[in-house]
Amino acid sequence: MRLRLVNMMLRSKFSMEFVAGNMGWIEVICGPMFSGKSEELMRRLRRAVIARKRGQGFRPVIDNRYSHNEIVSHSDIRMRSETVNSAADIVKVLDWRTQVVGIDEANFLGSELVEIANQLADSGKQVILAGLDTDYMGRPFSPVPDLLAFAESITKTLAICMRCGNPAKHTQRLVESDDLIVVGAAGMYEARCRRCFEPGIPKQEYLEFARPRISGTGGDGG
Ligand code: ADP
Ligand code: ZN
Repeated sequence: MRLRLVNMMLRSKFSMEFVAGNMGWIEVICGPMFSGKSEELMRRLRRAVIARKRGQGFRPVIDNRYSHNEIVSHSDIRMRSETVNSAADIVKVLDWRTQVVGIDEANFLGSELVEIANQLADSGKQVILAGLDTDYMGRPFSPVPDLLAFAESITKTLAICMRCGNPAKHTQRLVESDDLIVVGAAGMYEARCRRCFEPGIPKQEYLEFARPRISGTGGDGG
Protein backbone atom coordinates (compact mmCIF):
# COMPACT_ATOMS: atom_id res chain seq x y z
CA MET A 1 0.00 0.00 0.00
CA ARG A 2 2.83 2.35 0.99
CA LEU A 3 4.81 1.37 -2.10
CA ARG A 4 1.76 2.11 -4.24
CA LEU A 5 1.48 5.54 -2.68
CA VAL A 6 5.15 6.30 -3.33
CA ASN A 7 4.76 5.10 -6.93
CA MET A 8 1.71 7.32 -7.37
CA MET A 9 3.59 10.32 -5.99
CA LEU A 10 6.57 9.71 -8.27
CA ARG A 11 4.36 9.30 -11.31
CA SER A 12 2.35 12.41 -10.55
CA LYS A 13 5.57 14.39 -10.16
CA PHE A 14 6.92 13.49 -13.58
CA SER A 15 3.87 12.87 -15.74
CA MET A 16 0.44 14.34 -16.38
CA GLU A 17 -0.78 10.88 -17.40
CA PHE A 18 -1.74 10.14 -13.81
CA VAL A 19 -4.38 12.89 -13.58
CA ALA A 20 -7.72 11.37 -12.56
CA GLY A 21 -11.28 12.39 -13.30
CA ASN A 22 -11.98 15.12 -15.81
CA MET A 23 -9.54 17.70 -14.50
CA GLY A 24 -8.02 19.84 -17.23
CA TRP A 25 -4.48 21.14 -17.51
CA ILE A 26 -2.01 23.00 -19.74
CA GLU A 27 1.09 21.48 -21.34
CA VAL A 28 3.53 23.71 -23.23
CA ILE A 29 6.11 22.51 -25.74
CA CYS A 30 8.51 25.36 -26.55
CA GLY A 31 11.84 25.89 -28.25
CA PRO A 32 13.31 27.22 -31.51
CA MET A 33 12.28 26.37 -35.06
CA PHE A 34 13.25 22.85 -36.22
CA SER A 35 13.39 21.55 -32.63
CA GLY A 36 10.49 19.12 -33.06
CA LYS A 37 7.65 21.04 -31.36
CA SER A 38 5.08 20.12 -34.03
CA GLU A 39 6.25 16.49 -34.06
CA GLU A 40 5.91 16.30 -30.28
CA LEU A 41 2.47 17.95 -30.34
CA MET A 42 1.26 15.41 -32.92
CA ARG A 43 2.79 12.53 -30.94
CA ARG A 44 0.84 13.59 -27.86
CA LEU A 45 -2.40 14.02 -29.81
CA ARG A 46 -1.95 10.54 -31.31
CA ARG A 47 -1.37 9.05 -27.85
CA ALA A 48 -4.58 10.72 -26.65
CA VAL A 49 -6.49 9.03 -29.48
CA ILE A 50 -4.92 5.67 -28.52
CA ALA A 51 -6.18 6.34 -24.98
CA ARG A 52 -9.65 6.72 -26.56
CA LYS A 53 -9.83 10.42 -25.91
CA ARG A 54 -11.32 12.81 -28.41
CA GLY A 55 -8.62 15.19 -29.71
CA GLN A 56 -8.70 18.26 -31.93
CA GLY A 57 -5.74 20.12 -33.45
CA PHE A 58 -5.62 23.84 -34.22
CA ARG A 59 -3.19 26.13 -35.99
CA PRO A 60 -3.32 29.85 -36.85
CA VAL A 61 -3.97 30.93 -40.41
CA ILE A 62 -0.76 33.03 -40.48
CA ASP A 63 1.27 29.86 -40.73
CA ASN A 64 0.33 28.90 -44.30
CA ARG A 65 3.10 26.39 -44.94
CA TYR A 66 2.16 23.28 -46.88
CA SER A 67 -1.50 22.95 -45.93
CA HIS A 68 -4.62 24.73 -44.70
CA ASN A 69 -6.15 21.91 -42.72
CA GLU A 70 -3.19 20.07 -41.27
CA ILE A 71 -0.44 20.54 -38.72
CA VAL A 72 2.74 19.81 -40.70
CA SER A 73 6.24 19.32 -39.29
CA HIS A 74 9.50 20.16 -41.05
CA SER A 75 9.95 16.42 -41.52
CA ASP A 76 6.52 16.32 -43.26
CA ILE A 77 4.61 14.50 -40.53
CA ARG A 78 0.99 15.63 -40.82
CA MET A 79 -2.19 15.64 -38.79
CA ARG A 80 -5.64 17.04 -39.55
CA SER A 81 -6.29 20.35 -37.82
CA GLU A 82 -8.65 23.31 -37.78
CA THR A 83 -7.25 26.59 -39.08
CA VAL A 84 -8.19 29.58 -36.93
CA ASN A 85 -7.83 33.34 -37.37
CA SER A 86 -7.58 34.06 -33.65
CA ALA A 87 -7.44 32.39 -30.26
CA ALA A 88 -11.15 33.19 -29.76
CA ASP A 89 -11.92 31.16 -32.90
CA ILE A 90 -10.64 28.03 -31.15
CA VAL A 91 -13.59 28.15 -28.75
CA LYS A 92 -16.01 28.73 -31.65
CA VAL A 93 -14.72 25.77 -33.67
CA LEU A 94 -14.21 23.46 -30.68
CA ASP A 95 -16.40 20.35 -30.53
CA TRP A 96 -17.78 20.30 -26.98
CA ARG A 97 -16.94 16.57 -26.77
CA THR A 98 -13.21 17.24 -27.38
CA GLN A 99 -11.06 16.27 -24.39
CA VAL A 100 -7.60 17.06 -25.76
CA VAL A 101 -6.96 20.40 -27.49
CA GLY A 102 -3.68 20.69 -29.44
CA ILE A 103 -2.58 24.15 -30.59
CA ASP A 104 0.44 24.60 -32.88
CA GLU A 105 2.32 27.88 -33.53
CA ALA A 106 0.99 29.39 -30.28
CA ASN A 107 3.35 32.37 -30.67
CA PHE A 108 1.17 33.61 -33.56
CA LEU A 109 -2.06 33.68 -31.54
CA GLY A 110 -1.45 36.70 -29.30
CA SER A 111 -1.96 37.36 -25.60
CA GLU A 112 -5.67 36.40 -25.85
CA LEU A 113 -4.50 32.78 -26.04
CA VAL A 114 -3.46 32.82 -22.38
CA GLU A 115 -7.01 33.37 -21.14
CA ILE A 116 -8.49 30.96 -23.69
CA ALA A 117 -6.03 28.19 -22.72
CA ASN A 118 -6.85 28.70 -19.04
CA GLN A 119 -10.60 28.68 -19.72
CA LEU A 120 -10.27 25.43 -21.64
CA ALA A 121 -8.15 23.85 -18.90
CA ASP A 122 -10.57 25.09 -16.21
CA SER A 123 -13.42 23.45 -18.11
CA GLY A 124 -11.67 20.08 -17.97
CA LYS A 125 -9.74 20.00 -21.25
CA GLN A 126 -6.15 18.81 -21.65
CA VAL A 127 -4.59 21.73 -23.54
CA ILE A 128 -1.29 21.12 -25.37
CA LEU A 129 0.38 24.20 -26.85
CA ALA A 130 3.47 24.29 -29.07
CA GLY A 131 5.27 27.52 -29.93
CA LEU A 132 8.46 29.53 -30.15
CA ASP A 133 9.61 30.78 -26.77
CA THR A 134 12.05 33.34 -28.24
CA ASP A 135 11.95 35.55 -31.34
CA TYR A 136 14.60 36.24 -34.02
CA MET A 137 16.42 38.55 -31.57
CA GLY A 138 16.46 35.95 -28.82
CA ARG A 139 13.84 37.81 -26.75
CA PRO A 140 10.92 36.10 -24.97
CA PHE A 141 8.14 35.71 -27.56
CA SER A 142 4.69 36.59 -26.24
CA PRO A 143 2.42 34.85 -25.30
CA VAL A 144 4.55 31.72 -24.75
CA PRO A 145 6.35 32.97 -21.58
CA ASP A 146 2.97 33.66 -19.93
CA LEU A 147 1.68 30.26 -21.00
CA LEU A 148 4.72 28.70 -19.32
CA ALA A 149 3.77 30.42 -16.07
CA PHE A 150 0.23 29.00 -16.20
CA ALA A 151 1.20 25.51 -17.41
CA GLU A 152 1.21 22.30 -15.36
CA SER A 153 3.80 20.76 -17.68
CA ILE A 154 6.63 22.32 -19.71
CA THR A 155 8.87 20.71 -22.33
CA LYS A 156 11.73 22.63 -23.90
CA THR A 157 12.83 21.14 -27.20
CA LEU A 158 16.24 21.89 -28.72
CA ALA A 159 17.29 21.69 -32.35
CA ILE A 160 20.76 21.04 -33.78
CA CYS A 161 22.92 24.12 -34.45
CA MET A 162 23.45 24.42 -38.19
CA ARG A 163 26.87 25.94 -37.57
CA CYS A 164 28.50 23.63 -35.07
CA GLY A 165 26.16 20.73 -34.28
CA ASN A 166 25.59 21.68 -30.64
CA PRO A 167 22.12 21.78 -29.04
CA ALA A 168 20.38 24.87 -30.42
CA LYS A 169 17.90 27.05 -28.54
CA HIS A 170 17.82 29.97 -30.98
CA THR A 171 16.02 30.69 -34.23
CA GLN A 172 18.48 32.51 -36.48
CA ARG A 173 16.87 34.72 -39.13
CA LEU A 174 18.88 34.63 -42.37
CA VAL A 175 16.97 37.32 -44.26
CA GLU A 176 17.02 41.04 -43.59
CA SER A 177 13.92 42.30 -41.77
CA ASP A 178 13.08 44.09 -38.53
CA ASP A 179 9.53 42.70 -38.46
CA LEU A 180 8.77 40.46 -35.51
CA ILE A 181 6.94 37.97 -37.70
CA VAL A 182 8.39 36.95 -41.06
CA VAL A 183 6.83 33.65 -42.04
CA GLY A 184 9.36 31.26 -43.48
CA ALA A 185 11.21 27.98 -42.98
CA ALA A 186 14.45 26.47 -44.29
CA GLY A 187 16.47 29.12 -46.10
CA MET A 188 14.96 32.01 -44.11
CA TYR A 189 15.66 30.60 -40.67
CA GLU A 190 18.00 28.08 -39.14
CA ALA A 191 18.64 26.72 -35.67
CA ARG A 192 21.68 28.05 -33.82
CA CYS A 193 23.24 27.38 -30.43
CA ARG A 194 23.93 30.09 -27.85
CA ARG A 195 27.49 30.53 -29.14
CA CYS A 196 26.70 30.74 -32.86
CA PHE A 197 23.48 32.82 -32.58
CA GLU A 198 23.75 36.33 -34.01
CA PRO A 199 20.69 38.41 -33.07
CA GLY A 200 19.26 40.76 -35.64
CA ILE A 201 20.23 41.28 -39.21
CA PRO A 202 22.81 38.78 -40.42
CA LYS A 203 26.04 39.89 -42.06
CA GLN A 204 26.16 39.87 -45.84
CA GLU A 205 28.49 36.87 -45.99
CA TYR A 206 25.88 34.76 -44.19
CA LEU A 207 23.15 35.91 -46.58
CA GLU A 208 25.39 34.71 -49.41
CA PHE A 209 25.75 31.46 -47.53
CA ALA A 210 21.96 31.13 -47.24
CA ARG A 211 21.12 32.07 -50.82
CA PRO A 212 21.30 28.67 -52.57
CA ARG A 213 18.87 27.22 -50.03
CA ILE A 214 16.36 30.09 -50.45
CA SER A 215 15.93 29.31 -54.16
CA GLY A 216 15.82 25.57 -53.44
CA THR A 217 12.94 25.43 -50.94
CA GLY A 218 9.28 26.14 -51.35
CA GLY A 219 7.90 25.74 -47.85
CA ASP A 220 7.13 28.51 -45.45
CA GLY A 221 5.83 28.60 -41.92
CA GLY A 222 6.82 28.93 -38.25
P1 ADP B 1 9.31 22.78 -34.99
O1 ADP B 1 7.82 22.59 -34.85
O2 ADP B 1 10.01 22.92 -33.67
O3 ADP B 1 9.67 23.87 -35.95
P2 ADP B 1 9.17 20.31 -36.47
O4 ADP B 1 8.48 19.34 -35.56
O5 ADP B 1 8.31 20.98 -37.53
O6 ADP B 1 9.92 21.42 -35.59
O7 ADP B 1 10.35 19.61 -37.23
C1 ADP B 1 11.35 18.85 -36.59
C2 ADP B 1 12.15 18.12 -37.66
O8 ADP B 1 12.90 19.07 -38.41
C3 ADP B 1 13.19 17.16 -37.14
O9 ADP B 1 12.66 15.88 -36.83
C4 ADP B 1 14.15 17.07 -38.32
O10 ADP B 1 13.71 16.10 -39.24
C5 ADP B 1 14.01 18.42 -39.01
N1 ADP B 1 15.16 19.35 -38.85
C6 ADP B 1 15.56 20.22 -39.80
N2 ADP B 1 16.58 20.99 -39.35
C7 ADP B 1 16.84 20.59 -38.08
C8 ADP B 1 17.77 21.03 -37.07
N3 ADP B 1 18.64 22.01 -37.29
N4 ADP B 1 17.75 20.40 -35.87
C9 ADP B 1 16.88 19.40 -35.64
N5 ADP B 1 15.97 18.95 -36.55
C10 ADP B 1 15.94 19.53 -37.75
ZN1 ZN C 1 26.60 26.42 -32.72
